[in-house]
Amino acid sequence: MKQEIPYKIYLNEKEIPRQWLNLRAFMDKKPAPLINPATLRPMTAEELSRVFCNELVKQELDDTTPYIDIPQEILDFYKMYRPSPLVRAYFLEKALDTPAKIYYKFEGNNTSGSHKLNSAIAQAYYAKSQGLRGVTTETGAGQWGTAMSMACSYFGLDCKVFMVKVSYEQKPFRREVMRTYGASVTPSPSPTTNIGRKILQEFPGTTGSLGCAISEAVEVAVSSEGYRYVLGSVLNQVLLHQSVIGLETKAALDKYDIVPDVIIGCAGGGSNLGGLIAPFMVEKLQGKANYRIVAVEPASCPSFTRGKYAYDFCDTGKVCPLAKMYTLGSGFIPSANHAGGLRYHGMTTTLSELYDQGLMEARSVEQTAVFEAAEQFARVEGILPAPESSHAIRAAIDEALRCKQTGEAKTIVFGLTGTGYFDMVAYQKYNDGEMSDYIPTDEDIAKGLAGLPKVE
Ligand SMILES: *Cc1c(COP(=O)(O)O)cnc(C)c1O
Repeated sequence: MKQEIPYKIYLNEKEIPRQWLNLRAFMDKKPAPLINPATLRPMTAEELSRVFCNELVKQELDDTTPYIDIPQEILDFYKMYRPSPLVRAYFLEKALDTPAKIYYKFEGNNTSGSHKLNSAIAQAYYAKSQGLRGVTTETGAGQWGTAMSMACSYFGLDCKVFMVKVSYEQKPFRREVMRTYGASVTPSPSPTTNIGRKILQEFPGTTGSLGCAISEAVEVAVSSEGYRYVLGSVLNQVLLHQSVIGLETKAALDKYDIVPDVIIGCAGGGSNLGGLIAPFMVEKLQGKANYRIVAVEPASCPSFTRGKYAYDFCDTGKVCPLAKMYTLGSGFIPSANHAGGLRYHGMTTTLSELYDQGLMEARSVEQTAVFEAAEQFARVEGILPAPESSHAIRAAIDEALRCKQTGEAKTIVFGLTGTGYFDMVAYQKYNDGEMSDYIPTDEDIAKGLAGLPKVE
């Protein structure tokens, strides 16, 4: 293999980022603030601090400080699995016979198997610094719960995880990893909370949803002394912590004077994509560069491509503040055959605003096409990708195949957010030819949107 650019680009000690990048500080028109559903006024620090740690509330509300120092304790933890490699996908390029140059930033190289540990360790650190006993949270596919369990055990904090019931039953080993790190795991909805009991009464056979697990975790946090709630995506603070992905990616590319044409990431709540694009979007906002930035979402949960930009509830129980975002409505639940993750009904406010301003694109892909890309990637690049990450792989492959037709040697960078070892039920369905696609009808979408609160 002839290579001027190494297969993996690593950063040395001096090149690793020591500050997070706060993308909102660079935006002229800021994302809309979180508002209190009772008063319809922006949430104050005091209101938020009943739910979240004080320092994280400060980060949540800060849309002016461009760079924020990463505390030394967090830098120390990052050393266990960062910097993550930026890989030149030589083998994939060859398999596709494309003139495009493809790079991926691999975030799956830790036990949680995803980028989520980047924010989990930060949130646990601030909880510990505040002298808390523990945190509560929800997890869907299980990556966030695992990441939070690891982070809490590192700092000696208790961790109570509400895991979406269907996933609790389908992924017993995810649960066991969390318990190995000392967390307690409860299937949601559960009879242990008011909101859980209410949902169980209304929908006895329900297999749960992220929005519902969030409501339960928040309820336990606000009613337990010494506990706060932590969330793995969507929030500004999470995008801030995830900027470490983009900063490392940019530093690695700069080292070899590589300028990307297209940057692609999968989008669930928007945290890995928000982190990956942060330094690139800053250059775009400053008029210094003009990257194409592409969010990829499931056709079965299409918040960017078919949702509405409006204030909505962040959870099913409607206990959380309202956020202005591209949303399908907090009551939207992807069809039962959906196996590819990225099932949150809304999208982080920062990316929603950037998308609304036309600074980024979005496309949706069907899950069989996603798993096809996942297998193609696994067979040539070796890594078994998470279904979520495979949305970005699908879009990157499509872009590279277009280059093959036009003869353009574009540089494509995508985020490979994690590994898929716990997603073998989904892979099995695909391998057995039993996976199908369901695209919500306009009626399905309208039903979800009908539940939006009347705010403006
Ligand atoms: C959680 C997760 C995602 C989606 O979350 P974002 O907040 O949109 O980044 C993507 N990939 C993996 C592997 C995940 O665990």
